[in-house]
Amino acid sequence: MKLLQLTAQITLCLLFTSNRATATCPQVVSRADWDARAPVSSQTIPSLPVPYVVIHHTYLPGFCNTSQACEAAMRSMQNYHQNTQKWTDIGYNFCIGGTGQVYEGRGWDIVGTHAPNYNNRSIGICFIGDFRAELPTLEMLATAKSLIECGVERNSTSPDYKLLGHSQVRSTECPGTALLNEIKTWPHWDSLNKTNT
Ligand SMILES: [Zn+2]
Repeated sequence: MKLLQLTAQITLCLLFTSNRATATCPQVVSRADWDARAPVSSQTIPSLPVPYVVIHHTYLPGFCNTSQACEAAMRSMQNYHQNTQKWTDIGYNFCIGGTGQVYEGRGWDIVGTHAPNYNNRSIGICFIGDFRAELPTLEMLATAKSLIECGVERNSTSPDYKLLGHSQVRSTECPGTALLNEIKTWPHWDSLNKTNT
């Protein structure tokens, strides 16, 4: 009887611990869920946790606000990246759709193709849509913040990570002026003052 009670207590304790550990990780729509093709190859990030988070917008495909449209956007990006760009897979680690859902790209701890010189030391998160003049929805912004926090919790991203917009590391409009101005107000945003290499 005592043993049973002890087992029950341990089980409850484990449940409690695992719930707490994943409290800030948003639900992710898996590759299988959006019907991704297999990657041609994949490479694990050589040194974890990574020191950078790089934010993107897709520009095209445009904003999506249903699961069906966002899953189609993921497939179209993967097709473009694999077929036209000749990359091994969709470039981003994760994408965020207009409903506030996270879509798995390459996922955690896999080298992406999204920011030259930063791919093997960053996590690349893209917002699906054109955010030059308009901001993503509040749900999208909240999801991005919890996804970033989740990366820190699971030790994929350093607790003192630097948050960057794509245009800070190469000449591009991405992630759009409106979105870049937004992330400049977030904790960990970094101006990369002359420390850029
Ligand atoms: Zn970008």
